[in-house]
Amino acid sequence: MNTTGKVIRCRAAIHWKPGAPLAIEEIEVAPPKAKEVRIKIVATGLCGTEMKMLANPNSHNNYPIILGHEGAGIVESVGQGVSTVKTGDKVITLFLPQCGECASCLNPGGNFCVQFKQSKTGLMSDGTSRFTCKGKPVYHFGNTSTFSEYTVIKEISVTKIDAVAPLEKVCLISCGFSTGYGAAITTAKVTPGSSCAVFGLGGVGLSVIMGCKAAGAARIIGVDINKDKFEKAKEVGATDCINPQDFEKPIQEVLFDMTGAGVEFCFEAIGNPATVAGKAERTSLNWFLITWQRSL
Ligand code: NAD
Ligand code: ZN
Repeated sequence: MNTTGKVIRCRAAIHWKPGAPLAIEEIEVAPPKAKEVRIKIVATGLCGTEMKMLANPNSHNNYPIILGHEGAGIVESVGQGVSTVKTGDKVITLFLPQCGECASCLNPGGNFCVQFKQSKTGLMSDGTSRFTCKGKPVYHFGNTSTFSEYTVIKEISVTKIDAVAPLEKVCLISCGFSTGYGAAITTAKVTPGSSCAVFGLGGVGLSVIMGCKAAGAARIIGVDINKDKFEKAKEVGATDCINPQDFEKPIQEVLFDMTGAGVEFCFEAIGNPATVAGKAERTSLNWFLITWQRSL
């Protein structure tokens, strides 16, 4: 059935109010307006950012809301003036939009598009939502809202991918993978033969490890309080994994002892400001702190 130009009824996970669990509801998704794209979401990851939002009642004021930003899917229809994607294209969603025109997008050293600010309103550029549930408008999240069978996002927040890409895997490129891998390769510029420590072995931390390995790091130490994360971390390139709870000493002293001089590159991928504010300077000769916590 051709749904172009029509309202689509589908299911979505709604976050109704602070502290409430996600509720699966039937919603209506309006057609895309100018420069917008409606996508059938096939796969979505669950980023640590959403977990923090669900745990922290003060993280935002836009309720009810459809969360989710690590998505991959197929374009169902496009609004007027959309030129970069068409119906049937496989796409991933972009939490950080790329307008391609602002000073930030034009600067080869950065990509923090000025349009990101607008997405924090939880509404589309015209100040309205494309979602309704039980007669109420529902806020968008990060201009992506991938916890829905269909979503509408701005053209600048979507990018076409290879038609053979497995959507259930590449959805992670949408956020966790690029954040972690990019932190190692692009931001920290990890050097061959170096030693690295990675705090937090979730999606972001594992991707940092992959980046450190690709850059030729000799020693990659994974740090997590959940030892169940160690097997996967070693599979993707960690040379050692440690649990701070197994030691009496502060973890930076443990790292110092393990390496004899401290690590050259250190990444925080827990999302805990205290780790970053900690005793970094005591830990190593060249300690780079890379934190990727969003200011949500
Ligand atoms: P995740 O929940 O999958 O992983 C976090 C890991 O940290 C878990 O394995 C957990 O066991 C571990 N951990 C918790 N407390 C710890 C402690 N005290 N010591 C050591 N390890 C500890 O999360 P994720 O999806 O990998 O995201 C990690 C962080 O990065 C989150 O804060 C998220 O908001 C942030 N993030 C930022 C960006 C960005 O800025 N572009 C993108 C994605 C995620
Ligand atoms: Zn821009």
